[in-house]
Amino acid sequence: MKTLLSALALVATALTLSAQSGTPWTTPTQAEIDAVYSDVDALYIDLHRNPELAFQEVRTAATLAARVKALGYEVTTGVGKTGIVAVMKNGTGPTVMLRTELDALPVEEKTGLPFASTTTAKNAAGQLVPVMHACGHDLHMAAWAGTARLMAEHKDRWRGTLLLVGQPAEEGSAGAGAMLRDGLFTRFPRPDFALSLHDDDTMPAGTIGYHPGFFRAMSDTVTITVFGRGGHAAMPHSTIDPVVLASRIVLSLQTIVARENNPVDPVVITIGSIHGGTQGNIIPDEVRLQLSVRTYTPEVRTRTLAAIRRIAKGEAIAAGAPREPQVDAPATAGAPVYNDPALTLRLAGALKKGLGDAQVVEMPQKMTSEDFAQYGLAGVPSTLLHIGAVAPAKLAAAKDTGIPVPAPHSPEWVPEREPTLKGAIRAEVTALLELFAGGR
Ligand SMILES: [Zn+2]
Ligand SMILES: [Zn+2]
Repeated sequence: MKTLLSALALVATALTLSAQSGTPWTTPTQAEIDAVYSDVDALYIDLHRNPELAFQEVRTAATLAARVKALGYEVTTGVGKTGIVAVMKNGTGPTVMLRTELDALPVEEKTGLPFASTTTAKNAAGQLVPVMHACGHDLHMAAWAGTARLMAEHKDRWRGTLLLVGQPAEEGSAGAGAMLRDGLFTRFPRPDFALSLHDDDTMPAGTIGYHPGFFRAMSDTVTITVFGRGGHAAMPHSTIDPVVLASRIVLSLQTIVARENNPVDPVVITIGSIHGGTQGNIIPDEVRLQLSVRTYTPEVRTRTLAAIRRIAKGEAIAAGAPREPQVDAPATAGAPVYNDPALTLRLAGALKKGLGDAQVVEMPQKMTSEDFAQYGLAGVPSTLLHIGAVAPAKLAAAKDTGIPVPAPHSPEWVPEREPTLKGAIRAEVTALLELFAGGR
């Protein structure tokens, strides 16, 4: 036993020495990650307990800014309203950007966690809403902070410029554009590469998913207001009921996907909100529908939006509505996320080497969207990686029962904390080191 222990001690000493004597740092060791974990975990819990809505991330931004400042980064706050930029210039080499989102969602938390959010805040429309980190941006921030610390503490082992970005308002897709308009790529070193990592409900905790090429869809928010003629609930014959009209529109819109669209072109039309009336014995005079439309190409998007207008108008005519529905859709869509194929495959290779082949998998594209697309559109080769955040046993049970695990945006979304945070830090540092070591 004693011999075994001294042999192990010898190996450990040899490893430490080889690290100090300049063996390339390609992936952090378990010990290096463990050394920052308790701090990262405490930050995660603090951020989870104190979520803030898009463009209101003042406390969140200040918390992250103070941390990276203490690590020696040059920090600028208030970029794109509430965003932060932290720069570490560390000799000659590429400039690499790592982005986290700062914002939370208007969701009432139902996780039952001891540190669950009970926060409320006023949304952009002035309504008081519950707030929760239901998309895992708290996890992204905590990992980003852990990565920031490892990179700062091992500055002697990489060369280049690290640009850490805390982006506001990813939900609603306004934050990336706001930061770019505020000079993200002109006031600060322009990145040669941009990376981000998002938590995921389909893979085991810590598994990294990559997808070269188009990865996330375009997203449009459409509002339809339908008009009827209100009156007494017991006298439908003297009214034109906009609730029935709106219901018909909801169902007819699904035929765009099922009957008008080429099945090989993905389209999603979700009516996430429908509001009308005040109580059961009154027929209201208008109903408002809010839609989310997801597409991948400008042609399919244009055709889908035109079909939505046509169906809303046609159903209103069929119902004898006194006015045409009002359909409000943005003139331009957010861009789809395009993962630069060369960058994505290069990182997948480095991650497989660092984390093991089984930990890094190619994943399918998704219909969710992300304003991370804006950085690629601005000409910076970019890639958005995913990290599995679910206990393997829960994924296996979901497969058996056919009931999926809660996903991001669900009031029950809880990433499997320790393996996901540690996996995210390991993946981020590994990806950064690959790009710093390999140059442009
Ligand atoms: Zn989200
Ligand atoms: Zn998100």
